[in-house]
Amino acid sequence: MSGRKVFIHAFGCQMNKLDAELALSALKQAGYEEVASPGEADVILYNTCSVRSHAEQRAYSNIGKLKHLKRRKPHLVIGVLGCMAQKDRESIIERLPHVNIVCGTREFPRIVELIEEARQGASVLACSESGAVSVERDVARRPTRFRAYVSIMRGCDNFCAYCIVPYVRGRETSRPPQDIEDEVRRLVDDGCREITLLGQNVNSYGKSFDRPGALPELLCRLDRIAGLDRLRFVTSHPKDVTREMLQAVRDLPSVCEHLHMPAQSGSDRILSAMNRSYTSGRYRELLALAKELVPGVSVASDFIVGFPGETEEDFERTASLVREARFQQCFVFKYSPRPRTPAARLVDDVSGEDKRRRNIKLLEIQSAVSADEQRTFIGKDVEVLVEGLSKHDPNRLAGRLRTNQIVVFEGPSELAGKLVRVRVTETTPLTLCGALAETG
Ligand code: SAM
Ligand code: SF4
Repeated sequence: MSGRKVFIHAFGCQMNKLDAELALSALKQAGYEEVASPGEADVILYNTCSVRSHAEQRAYSNIGKLKHLKRRKPHLVIGVLGCMAQKDRESIIERLPHVNIVCGTREFPRIVELIEEARQGASVLACSESGAVSVERDVARRPTRFRAYVSIMRGCDNFCAYCIVPYVRGRETSRPPQDIEDEVRRLVDDGCREITLLGQNVNSYGKSFDRPGALPELLCRLDRIAGLDRLRFVTSHPKDVTREMLQAVRDLPSVCEHLHMPAQSGSDRILSAMNRSYTSGRYRELLALAKELVPGVSVASDFIVGFPGETEEDFERTASLVREARFQQCFVFKYSPRPRTPAARLVDDVSGEDKRRRNIKLLEIQSAVSADEQRTFIGKDVEVLVEGLSKHDPNRLAGRLRTNQIVVFEGPSELAGKLVRVRVTETTPLTLCGALAETG
């Protein structure tokens, strides 16, 4: 069908990637075909992120460059979707007059209709703050057959002082368990073996229908689905992690022994200014409890360096936490003030240079921890869900352990989507390398 080639790109988190996938699935149902580059497309959609200003600048720069394409192809429809659309809804079209659609985080289900309106020549602004939060999924049209993300909640009520998410994604709303179960069943029936449940704070799943703490029940319900090998969930806010949740991770066979539990800082003063509702002592207790209850558990964390008022001493407390905690992985971000957030009213007083130095130092500490931890795998046989060809070495396959480490090894591409055993022979801080283990 002519005029129906769509290019879509998602910046930012897994939720954004899922939203883009769902929008694409709705578009394909309406007769659109996905293309790999903006130059080939009749419709270009960017699903944007506003968590840090850097992500926004990249989106603005990418969309800005489309001006020339639009001049050559006046019928091209350009849409800005998601968090940045929600945040800058008033100014995007003024700033980028070649944009036709500004579609906020709650208007995704209307994407096909919005494109039709834009084709009629309208400038479309769809950024209501309420509305449906999920798009009906066409399981057959997902990009990876054996792995999928499923959103269990949308929005966030936590209002961490630095974070824009509650303002652009709205109040926390959990999906009914039956809807989630039905979606997971459809995915598994269609060949999916690993599901990652998504939410900004999955541990408060159920709060919006007066069942806070319903995550363990949900995990239990999904674990019973035959054919589902691996179940994961992100992100866990430390303030809502419970013993019941950790016991569910320990006891349910499909639930992977991996938690993403962002600490953000190791300094109590900064944690309090961030409105995180826990101390570094409480965070350490939770880590100890997780390690006690879930043998072999791996934990990943996020940190922000250079939050307003962060001194060298505060930073050293964060560095000590990273040395001690032995995280599987750390994501480190330089603080960036976001409009409307309480922290944006504080003076952004840590210099760019100090933020950069602290960022590098934390990553170096984590890299040394990871290198040590990875070496403990040498000589061991591990269970890998094969994802496909390695991005860095197309002659090898790549997959992941239940505990989230990446494994690279030689093998036939038909193994994609299968569980295999690999003997680890070498390691780097980021990758385990090995060979298919003999099975017998
Ligand atoms: N809901 C998750 C949680 O609370 O752990 C995190 C969601 S947020 C999209 C992902 C990460 O971005 C956060 O964990 C935080 O480290 C980082 N982040 C959020 N706002 C930031 C800001 N203003 N500057 C720098 N990093 C930020
Ligand atoms: Fe942002 Fe905090 Fe909500 Fe995470 S829990 S999305 S950091 S406000």
